[in-house]
Amino acid sequence: MLRILPRLAPILALGLAPLLQSCAVNPVTGQRQFVLFTESQEIEMGRQADQDISASLGVYDDPELAAWMDDMGQRMAADSERPDLPWTFRILDDPTINAFALPGGYIYLTRGILTHLNSDAELAGIVGHEIGHVTARHGITRVSRAQLAQVGLGLGMILAPELRPFGEAAGAGLQLLFLSNSRDAEREADDLGLRYMSTQDYDPRAVARVFEMLARASGAEDGDRIPGFLSTHPDPMDRRDRILARTTGEEPEYRGTVDDREGYLQRLDGMIFGTNPREGYFRDNVFYHPDMAFRLDYPRGWRTANTRDEVQGVSGEQDAVVLLRLVAEASPSEARRRFLAGEGVETVTTSEQSVNNLPAASAEFRVRGENATFRGHVVFVRWQDRTFRVLGYSTEASWSARQSAISQAVRSFRPVTDRAILDVQPRTIELVRTQNDMTLEGFQQRHPSTVDLATVGVINGLRSGDVIPGGTLMKRVVGDPPPGD
Ligand SMILES: [Zn+2]
Repeated sequence: MLRILPRLAPILALGLAPLLQSCAVNPVTGQRQFVLFTESQEIEMGRQADQDISASLGVYDDPELAAWMDDMGQRMAADSERPDLPWTFRILDDPTINAFALPGGYIYLTRGILTHLNSDAELAGIVGHEIGHVTARHGITRVSRAQLAQVGLGLGMILAPELRPFGEAAGAGLQLLFLSNSRDAEREADDLGLRYMSTQDYDPRAVARVFEMLARASGAEDGDRIPGFLSTHPDPMDRRDRILARTTGEEPEYRGTVDDREGYLQRLDGMIFGTNPREGYFRDNVFYHPDMAFRLDYPRGWRTANTRDEVQGVSGEQDAVVLLRLVAEASPSEARRRFLAGEGVETVTTSEQSVNNLPAASAEFRVRGENATFRGHVVFVRWQDRTFRVLGYSTEASWSARQSAISQAVRSFRPVTDRAILDVQPRTIELVRTQNDMTLEGFQQRHPSTVDLATVGVINGLRSGDVIPGGTLMKRVVGDPPPGD
């Protein structure tokens, strides 16, 4: 969270790309179809969006795991109908349970979904499904639309558009992902995925377990990680039944022998689980960022959110906001100059005062928006080779009531030296091998996790009362729950 967004202009241009229709042969069906882009346009679209997504969502830092997943994906893609695309497989540093594909062969799985899978074949099922969206030219896809809204950046999470006079729409490249696939496209991708994985001898029955997991995770304690999953996609249990019908019985359509639970789990050892507080968290009204070693005090009682590129706070009456983000300029006064040169922005006063002994430049300003006039206070502050912008504003009518809270908040940016905050660590997956037969409940007692029993069950693909044979490799979650959770 709060990562620097790259320049978004090329991505914006994609949305406006001339819709050159041409006739092409669908690589999967062999039928002629009208397509909006040539293959090279498709690849270029994916390549540009990939830069945006990799930078703003963040790539998970585990080169070995990434190389291994890439190898699996490359093998399946090489045997697909479109072996010559620049196939790229990435693990995103995101706790949500998700996977999606971009045109041109860019495929993403979150670390959240990886921690919820239990074998190579399960992973191959997800990767194969996403390859299927690309080979069948479904365009931009995701496992869950509502989910992606979260991965995508909590777009407008708490800020109504009328409170955004600055037109800083959230990452435009990510908006590409809001297009959704039809149910038919999902079924087609399911079938293609089964074919690709079984060609590599992965057991396609594993995919049925993935859909069970998705169904359970959407209803589990932390089910808010995949809101609306069931309402925006073909029902996971229906898809599971469809997959079982094709992969079991006397003459299964698809088959394979490799599952490899042990090998898969070994690769997960030490993986970050859930939200990573090092990327910032709230405790009451105070935002702490351990990696960047600062804090910012929001007004008490405001609603707050730590989104991808911005930390937001909004007053209870929704008439005032304080927004924190990084800007590219190295100099606070240069950053302020550019801000004040923005469309519709009028300078009221400027000040060179430092903020809590950090170099800073600030200004009070007025903005005439389309529907309302706003008054605000902006501070640019330099800390550890980064320039932060703390922007607070309200409607002109509310300014006299809100000014003191806003000004106090925007000047509250300060370094943190408290080790307890700087050293906070995320929870991680740890592997344990059971010594003897035990139930899931017994496992939680013997090898406790810092997540609840339901979550331990979901991530291990087990249900309450299931007996775990002795000698089974299991996941547990260790480490303190993130502060403020
Ligand atoms: Zn899909």
